[in-house]
Amino acid sequence: MAAIVREGTLRRDVLRGMLGVVAADVMMAGGMMWANADAMPRIYTRREWGAVPSRRPPRVLDRPPDHIIVHHTATPNVSDLSRRHAFSLSRAIQRDHMRNQGWDDIGEQLTISRGGHVMEGRAGSLPAIRQGRLVVGAQSLRHNDHTIGIENEGTYLEDDVPGRLWDSLVDVCAWLCAAYRLDPAVAIVGHRDYNDTDCPGDVLYRRLPRLRTEVERVLEDAHHGGPPPGRDPHPPPGGGPHLPPGLDDDPPSDERRRLTSHRHRRLRGHGR
Ligand SMILES: [Zn+2]
Repeated sequence: MAAIVREGTLRRDVLRGMLGVVAADVMMAGGMMWANADAMPRIYTRREWGAVPSRRPPRVLDRPPDHIIVHHTATPNVSDLSRRHAFSLSRAIQRDHMRNQGWDDIGEQLTISRGGHVMEGRAGSLPAIRQGRLVVGAQSLRHNDHTIGIENEGTYLEDDVPGRLWDSLVDVCAWLCAAYRLDPAVAIVGHRDYNDTDCPGDVLYRRLPRLRTEVERVLEDAHHGGPPPGRDPHPPPGGGPHLPPGLDDDPPSDERRRLTSHRHRRLRGHGR
């Protein structure tokens, strides 16, 4: 996945646009280009991992998020790196969020397994990202209307982050920063920066400065490199008619009020 992004197709002016140096129309072109082009990481859709339908249409805001929140799932640090396991992880999280938390759908917009497989989370997340919009999740109390959340499989209070997961996290953050024109140096935060929680674990939290730097480097590489010659185009992953964006005037969900970081809180004190 990393190689795909590093061979990315962003042009110099596009990156400048992302950083606000040139006109807004170029910025838009840049975001859409990254979001739709070869450089997008492979993200498995809800249909692919076997999601159940959300209880209500997603609430979609016609604006980008201003921060990317890094979480850990606080689940066991499994050794199964397969795609099959990754899909079952997403199904288990969705089941937990809908049955036990009572939410409309899986809480986060994106999930990454320890094997580095990336899955769409809440319904409509992929089309919204491509459009520079935000599907409101249930992943950070009081901050769901301006942030997008990535759940990283595992518990990182003590254990280190697997290489495949890390590489995918870098790629996904680079893609989101380009699509939403965010500066990784300020946009990438940990869940504990917003809520009273140990999430994403001391180890992963301490890695956030490195994550910001590596994402900057990916964007820089894309900035200096042109599109690779003779590459076969492939259809943008994650597309499909099964994820219609919701309406901005959907009745607001009450899940934001109910949202607690229960899963994370439960582990409070471990590894300290
Ligand atoms: Zn969290």
